[in-house]
Amino acid sequence: MAQAIGTTAKILTCVGQGRSVELTTRLATSGEGEVWHTNWDGYVAKLYFNPSPDRIRKLEVMIANPPTDPNAAINHPSFAWPQALLQDASGRSLGFVMPEIANSVELIDVYNPQRRRAVLPGFNWLYLHVAAMNIASITQAIHARGYVLGDIKPQNILVNNQALPSVIDTDSFQVRNPQTGEVFRCPVGSEGFTPPELLGQDLAAMDQTEGHDRFRLGIIMHLLLFGDQPFKGVWTGWGDPPDPNQLLSQGHWPYGMTTLIQPGPLTIPLETVHPELQQCFLRCFNQGHRDASLRPTPGEWLQALKLAVADLKACGKVNCHYYSQSYGRCYWCDRKKALGIDVFPKASLSAAQRRARYQDTLDRLLQPASQLAQTVTQRLDWPRLPSTPTWPQIPLPQRPQMPSLTLPKAWKQYAIATSLLSGVAIASLAIIKVLMAQQNTESMVFGTVLFIGLLVVWAQLAKPTSS
Ligand SMILES: [Zn+2]
Repeated sequence: MAQAIGTTAKILTCVGQGRSVELTTRLATSGEGEVWHTNWDGYVAKLYFNPSPDRIRKLEVMIANPPTDPNAAINHPSFAWPQALLQDASGRSLGFVMPEIANSVELIDVYNPQRRRAVLPGFNWLYLHVAAMNIASITQAIHARGYVLGDIKPQNILVNNQALPSVIDTDSFQVRNPQTGEVFRCPVGSEGFTPPELLGQDLAAMDQTEGHDRFRLGIIMHLLLFGDQPFKGVWTGWGDPPDPNQLLSQGHWPYGMTTLIQPGPLTIPLETVHPELQQCFLRCFNQGHRDASLRPTPGEWLQALKLAVADLKACGKVNCHYYSQSYGRCYWCDRKKALGIDVFPKASLSAAQRRARYQDTLDRLLQPASQLAQTVTQRLDWPRLPSTPTWPQIPLPQRPQMPSLTLPKAWKQYAIATSLLSGVAIASLAIIKVLMAQQNTESMVFGTVLFIGLLVVWAQLAKPTSS
């Protein structure tokens, strides 16, 4: 069947669009199908090897009920949503067209410090906050239409250099037909993101809720702001530490109420983020660990992140450092001093980034924080990162100026001093010669001291006097 897609059905009919789509180059192949470039600018096609009638009905519901894209105004596709079904010549539906998410990287490339350094070195903590804010906003929009993302994981979220994310693999979402109530389930989940109540459950046999997504969203927020999984640290219980899934299942994280995990040496403390964000994390992983209804909603994360972004301040020492004013000082500078590790090292800033930093300082001087929090959503595309990292132009050091040797202006003084010293020097050398002939240590020391003394006297006498 895979061959049928690749070789015989390159021109497909786009249902409801009145025109055909030509498949041009194959982008990817997975167990369920293939993704192709098409002759439609900015659109790709996903074709299944064996699409079931259920699969096609699910797509029809999605195509008829797209969520409202929070970034539509800036022409950024926040999700690769199915736009139209694709059929072969016999009228059989094979897949769908969706927007192409170009010039983006996987989420892990921005939250993992090593990968970030290699891929987008200027992506600082402010950008990570903005990316987190956008993800919360996109999740809110998807939930508003009754969808459950189901398989939230870093591989399914791409992000561009303006901190704008796009959710992909949307056809794995749990979809509810608003007319009939029929539910098309999400049968897949990912380790490290699945909420404790779903661990060990058959996902294909159960309907999921927004509450399940809220736990997954909390993990994503933690990855972005702290660079690592929350259920991790130094095990303080008996025996070997349990595996990561067990830690998650039992709620062991460094800020748990009855936890057996302590922060590790590299753990970034919870206090470094805005107090509203701290509350969101505590609610998600403590009270909300077992009770999904107590986990923060995407809207609550969004509000907390707006406050946090408005509270971030540029560090005066390292251009990639941003820190929470509520924390009081630059945590990244402290960490660098204590551990020798800087996860946001100094980077070369583009002219746009320098402007953004300058504008940011101006905004803060001129606007109260509450107002800034309101305007920050309108600046979702700010600040911009260069699309290709540029190397810093290292200025060549100026040649150090050699001190110019000046002769004493009073030449008479110089001549007298020199002739006087010459006489004394000749006399001294004679004395030294006599002392040296005695071949003992005292006379050697005396001779050396006398010689140095003469040099000092000469220097004093020859020093120019202001005339
Ligand atoms: Zn700093």
